[in-house]
Amino acid sequence: MNNIKLVVLGTGSVGKSSITIRFVHKEFVDKYDPTIEDLYRTPIEYNGQIWCLEIMDTSGTEILRMRDLYIRNGLGFLLVYGINSMGSFLELQQIKEQIVRVKEMKASDMPILVIGNKADLESDRQVSSDEAQQLCAKWGVEFMEASAKTGMNIDSVFESVVKQVQDKLLAKKPK
Ligand code: GDP
Ligand code: MG
Repeated sequence: MNNIKLVVLGTGSVGKSSITIRFVHKEFVDKYDPTIEDLYRTPIEYNGQIWCLEIMDTSGTEILRMRDLYIRNGLGFLLVYGINSMGSFLELQQIKEQIVRVKEMKASDMPILVIGNKADLESDRQVSSDEAQQLCAKWGVEFMEASAKTGMNIDSVFESVVKQVQDKLLAKKPK
């Protein structure tokens, strides 16, 4: 079985743990210790193959050197902000730059997906879909809105990253 290491990044309380747990355990946990960093393993079927996803759920408060290590070990990256928090959206810039620096690759050459989480909180929206879409197009990375609470697009975000890992990294390896 092929292993794919993913890293979930983003500032505090944007829903990194909720997205991970929703995907792995198919449930929404309302309160989850924000300091917990944990590694989850779960199978995913993509393109007629079973892949073992190893998902690193970071706390968002880890020291930069620790985050460097997670990034170095990761193949694909989920960059999460909350659509109800402009600050969490703006923080993604730094995280993207950190990935580019550590991996020494252009963002567009890596499996990166920006996730606008909490899409159910439409009435508290601070970041428009257009604005996020435009920034991601500029970076050359994929973008999707999702909700760990309703489950909207949760399977799709993981499928997108697995597809990108296959297209951008594995398909290019010499046989
Ligand atoms: P993390 O610090 O990024 O891991 O964030 P958590 O997953 O711990 O979530 C922070 C808070 O946001 C918790 O109270 C969650 O219940 C809540 N939350 C997470 N995802 C969603 C979502 O999609 N919609 C709503 N309404 N709340 C969410
Ligand atoms: Mg968390």
